[in-house]
Amino acid sequence: MTAAAPGLVLVLNSGSSSIKFQLVDPVVGTVPLSGLVEQIGEPDGPVADHAAGLRLIHRQLTDSGIDLAAVRAVGHRVVHGGNLFYAPTLITDEVVAEVARLSELAPLHNPANVIGIELARKDFPDVPHVAVFDTGFFHSLPAAAASYAIDHDVATRYGIRRYGFHGTSHEYVSGEVAVLLGREPRELNIIVLHLGNGASASAVRGGVAVETSMGLTPLEGLVMGTRSGDIDPGVLFHLNRTAGLDIDELDELLNRRSGLKGLCGVNDFRELLEQRAAGGSRAEAATLAYDVYIHRLRKYVGAYLAVLGRVDAIAFTAGVGENAPSVREDALAGLDGLGIVVDPQRNRSGKGARVISTDASPTTVLVVPTNEELAIARAAWQFV
Ligand code: AMP
Repeated sequence: MTAAAPGLVLVLNSGSSSIKFQLVDPVVGTVPLSGLVEQIGEPDGPVADHAAGLRLIHRQLTDSGIDLAAVRAVGHRVVHGGNLFYAPTLITDEVVAEVARLSELAPLHNPANVIGIELARKDFPDVPHVAVFDTGFFHSLPAAAASYAIDHDVATRYGIRRYGFHGTSHEYVSGEVAVLLGREPRELNIIVLHLGNGASASAVRGGVAVETSMGLTPLEGLVMGTRSGDIDPGVLFHLNRTAGLDIDELDELLNRRSGLKGLCGVNDFRELLEQRAAGGSRAEAATLAYDVYIHRLRKYVGAYLAVLGRVDAIAFTAGVGENAPSVREDALAGLDGLGIVVDPQRNRSGKGARVISTDASPTTVLVVPTNEELAIARAAWQFV
């Protein structure tokens, strides 16, 4: 047996106001170094712009004592690949230009991704840089799931369709479910519930995504930390006409002041649970927020059961999905008739990837920690 070639992948996740990084051993899965630069570009923040953020990261890397010659590839999380990119893609000048052009579809994210890519290519000029797209896994959505029922010509001209996001996580978690169950992905129908600050659901048939809750942008679907998820678009027309809110104010309302934060004032799920338990007037709002969140989640589970016809596994992942047993219990309570039976004891104990349904439950319910960085590192490693 030959040992794997030694090497590390630097994984960069440049957001609108933060850059996360990890040095990942893509073969073993270990992370010798990770870090986060936050509050980029904020008025009183310590980091003026993404260039300064990248310089800070470069200093952390050089100060770590890790031999940077071991970095054999850089993997970049890119939010929107539009209709152009779905597989992990070796970054060239042309790819950077296309990712920049796709900023129209993701104005908060793609520009930050481009800056991160350009700076990192200067810092690591001699290794492959690979873009991994958040939309990629959902390229396979059937037209019936991807299309909005609007004027076909308008949709075509402006690229209006459901693209889906969190794809790296949904793909990774559905793959891990197959590993944990000791089954082939092609044999399995899986619902993945990615419940973090952003939240999305997907239906995966035989390893291929057939439905997901996010759309043209990451605003559609489940209730999120600060995003409304599904809402009647008529609300926007109404608020414009009656309250005089313009398009930017409506954007801000739905993306930043809605979801859990809109309903009860906090977007952090732990704080919501504390508020709800504390009693008093604020508990009422927190209880409503919790109930709306759970109700939406149950609706999606029911819808995806119908989309898939038969569901072998339901997997919870991300901050809330991995750490909030009450959410898992309440989202699936009373679904015995549909073949879903959570074991309360298993659900409340244990750590890491595990089964939380009863042995007799026809559908296996699991908690599967997501690991987007490892998935990106593995994808980038293919190009070494
Ligand atoms: P993520 O975006 O995946 O990092 O998830 C962030 C969300 O997970 C935040 O709303 C956190 O409050 C939530 N979260 C993290 N740990 C817990 C926990 N122990 N219980 C409930 N929610 C949690």
